[in-house]
Amino acid sequence: MKETLSFQTEVKQLLQLMIHSLYSNKEIFLRELISNAADATDKLRFESLNQAALLENDGDLKITVTCDVEAKTITVSDNGIGMSREEVIENLGTIAKSGTKAFFEQLSGDAKKDANLIGQFGVGFYSAFIVADEVTVETRRAGAAAHEAVRWVSRGDGEFSIEAIEKTERGTSITLHVKEAEAELLSDWTLRRIVTTYSDHISVPILMKQAPQYDDEGNIIHAEELEAVNQAQALWTRSKNDISDEQYQEFYKHISHDFQDALAWSHFRVEGKHEYTGLMYVPKAAPYDLYEREAKGGVKLYVKRVFIMDDVQKLMPMYLRFIKGVIDTSDLPLNVSREILQQSRDLDQIRAGAVKKILAMLEDLAKNRAEDYTTFWNTFGSVFKEGIGEDAANKNKLAGLCRFASTAGGDATQNVSLADYIERMKEGQDKIYYITAETYAAAKNSPHLEIYLKKGIEVLLLTDRVDEWVVGSLFEFEGKKLASVSKGELDLGDLANEADKAEQEKAQEAAKDVVATIKTHLGDKVADVRATTRLTESPACLVVGEFDMSQNLQRMLAQAGA
Ligand code: ADP
Ligand code: MG
Repeated sequence: MKETLSFQTEVKQLLQLMIHSLYSNKEIFLRELISNAADATDKLRFESLNQAALLENDGDLKITVTCDVEAKTITVSDNGIGMSREEVIENLGTIAKSGTKAFFEQLSGDAKKDANLIGQFGVGFYSAFIVADEVTVETRRAGAAAHEAVRWVSRGDGEFSIEAIEKTERGTSITLHVKEAEAELLSDWTLRRIVTTYSDHISVPILMKQAPQYDDEGNIIHAEELEAVNQAQALWTRSKNDISDEQYQEFYKHISHDFQDALAWSHFRVEGKHEYTGLMYVPKAAPYDLYEREAKGGVKLYVKRVFIMDDVQKLMPMYLRFIKGVIDTSDLPLNVSREILQQSRDLDQIRAGAVKKILAMLEDLAKNRAEDYTTFWNTFGSVFKEGIGEDAANKNKLAGLCRFASTAGGDATQNVSLADYIERMKEGQDKIYYITAETYAAAKNSPHLEIYLKKGIEVLLLTDRVDEWVVGSLFEFEGKKLASVSKGELDLGDLANEADKAEQEKAQEAAKDVVATIKTHLGDKVADVRATTRLTESPACLVVGEFDMSQNLQRMLAQAGA
C-alpha cells in the first residue's frame, strides 16, 4: 500500500532555501549522499560488534555510484545499516536537530549569507533536490526480511510517498532523477571527478565504472566492471606527509558538515601509556548552535578505526565545543558503552592529551598566523574564555591565549594579550587593571577610569558576559595580580607618588563637611562615603567593596532572575 505524507514545515523551508542558495555549489549533493552512505556502513560495523548476524555473511562494506544516461539517473548505493519504515519517515521527513528554530530565525533572505548558514546547519540528504526533480530511496534495514524493505519517493515539493517493497540486498539505494538542466552530470567521467575531489578520504571503497579503455582498433573494453576510485583508508591513519591540504579540508567537511574550509587543524599520534590518533579542526565560522549548551559535540570516537559514537560529552571540554575531529584509540574495548565511557579514566587522559594538542595548535596560530588567530578569537573567543573557569590545569595557557579590548586601543576590538599588557606596564605598576561593564561604551566612559587615563595606565575593558567568570577565576597572570578599578580603595601601589598621597589627604580634609552631610542623607543605603582622587572629571561614582560582587555581575544576576 502506498501512502502519501507531508514534510514537516521546516523541511519545506529548507528545501526551498537549499535549491535557491546552494545552486552554485550543486556538486556537493554527491558528497552528502556518499557521506551518509559511509555513516551507514560505520553504523553497521558498530552494531555488528554485538550482533554479528546483522552482517548477513556480507562483511565487505562498500558504496557504489553509477549513472544511467538514458534514464537520466544517478544512483548511490550502500550495504550499510539501512532504515526501517519508521526511520525513513523520521530521517527523511523531519529535522530533529537541536536549535532548528534558532537556525530559521537567523535566515536573512540574502542568498550568500543564507548559504553559509545552511552550510553550518548541515545540508545533508535534501541537497539531492538541488539537481534532481525526483528522488527515490529504497532501503532495507540490516537484519530485516527482504519484504520489509521500503521505497520513499519525493519530488521535493512538500510531500513524499512511502510503500513496502522487496529488496534482497541490505542497505540503501538512492536514485536521483536528474533535472533537464543538469544533464551534464550524467557522465561517469564527471561523477568520478566529483567523487575523487570530495570523497577520497571515505574509508570504505567507493565503486564506480572504470574509465574506458580502448583496444588497438579503438573499441571500448571492459567498461562495465566497477573499481574503487578512492583510497578507502581512514584519513587519520595515513602519514601526514601523504595527505594534501585539500584532502584535510575535504575530510573536515565530511565530519563537520561544514561548507567552508577549516581555519586550522592538528593531526597527531600519541604513543606510550595511551595510544591514540587525533585529527582536530578549528572551523572558520561559528555553528548556528554555538550557544546551545546541549548541542552535539563535534568530536567522533573511533576504536581501532571502528566508529563508536559521536556526541560524547566527555571527548572535549565545554569550552572547546566548537572543535571538530576524530579520536581513534586502541585503549578502549570495541564494545564500550556510553555509560562506561562516562567513567573511563583512559578517556579522561586521552582527552587531556588532545586538549594539549589543540592549545598548542592555537598557540602556533597566534604566533605565526595573526590574522587567522583574530578570526578564531572573534568567532570563538567568548566560548573559549569559559575555559579559564572550567579547566584549572590549563588556566595559565588559556589566559595567555585570551585577547581583550583595552584603553590602549581605540575601539572594541579584542586584540590585547595579557603578555602585551604586561610589556606595556608603567614603571612601578604591579597589577593588571581591568573594568567589567555591560557594553564597551559603558566601560570606556566609566568614571573609574579617569585617574588611570590621566596617569597613562592601561586598563582592560571587559564586556563579554563570561568575563565576570574569567576575572573570578583568574587571579593573576605571570605573577601580576588582576585588580578591578571599580572595587575597593583606589590602590595605585607604587604608581602613586608622594604628591598623590598628599593630594588625597588634602582632598579628604577639604571635603570632610560635605562627606558628613551626604552620609547623613544616604544613611544605610551606602556602606561609606569617601573623598577621592580617583576622579578627574566626574563629581562622584559608586564603588563596591574589594570583596563584593561587581556592579556588572550584580546586574547580570538580577537579569537572570537570581
Ligand atoms: P545527517 O547526515 O547530518 O544526519 P542527512 O540529512 O544527511 O543528515 O541525513 C539524515 C538522516 O537520514 C541520517 O542521519 C540517517 O539517519 C539517514 N540516512 C540518510 N542516508 C542514509 C543511508 N544511506 N543509510 C542509512 N541512513 C541514511
Ligand atoms: Mg548527512
